[in-house]
Amino acid sequence: MRVLVVEDEGRVASFIAKGLVGAGFAAEVVGTGAEAVRRTLEGAADIVLLDVGLPDIDGFTALAEIRTVDQATPVIMLTARGDVSSRVRGLELGADDYLPKPFDFEELLARIRARLRQPRQPESFVLTSGDLELDLRTRQARRAELLVDLTSREFALLEFFLRHEGQVLSRTQILNAVWGYDFDPGSNVVDVYVGYLRSKLDAGATSVIETVRGGGYRLRGRSTAGS
Ligand code: CA
Repeated sequence: MRVLVVEDEGRVASFIAKGLVGAGFAAEVVGTGAEAVRRTLEGAADIVLLDVGLPDIDGFTALAEIRTVDQATPVIMLTARGDVSSRVRGLELGADDYLPKPFDFEELLARIRARLRQPRQPESFVLTSGDLELDLRTRQARRAELLVDLTSREFALLEFFLRHEGQVLSRTQILNAVWGYDFDPGSNVVDVYVGYLRSKLDAGATSVIETVRGGGYRLRGRSTAGS
């Protein structure tokens, strides 16, 4: 499988390309949006990793140009951490997924493999679990049809839970994914924000987020709902 890596920072690009080759992919690196569009439309890639910050046209413009012709090649956008408006814009323009920088390489591989397995699903902007729904475009959550407004951080946290439905997530995993690696690992910010989400989402019903003793937290999946 051929991955087109669109990244103008040479060090980052070669790190990604080496890792991909080590994982059995073929990797081609380009450093501008124009080359990204050209190579994608030439059919050079099975999947595209597209950085937002590029020296000529930005990643969004490149994506829009690609999608006017090619709606099929999966595109994963690389966005700044916590930049919710970038993600939303990327998804609206036809990105299949996004990954906040800096990212864990294993997570990048997992996202690439997941995208190559699934056919493109343009309507997958809504993540659901039981009676819980999160719309990635509007950033609105619903529980049992009731609308719940979330802050950016609450949105990112709930999204992380929904993408890992049913899995036990340690505080450290959550902290790294939602707040970034440089955040103080002794902080109780995860517990505080889980508390915010519960108070907004639960409204007297069974909590969607379960505390796992000694482990962390788990979003109750369909199989664990009501247990
Ligand atoms: Ca860049």
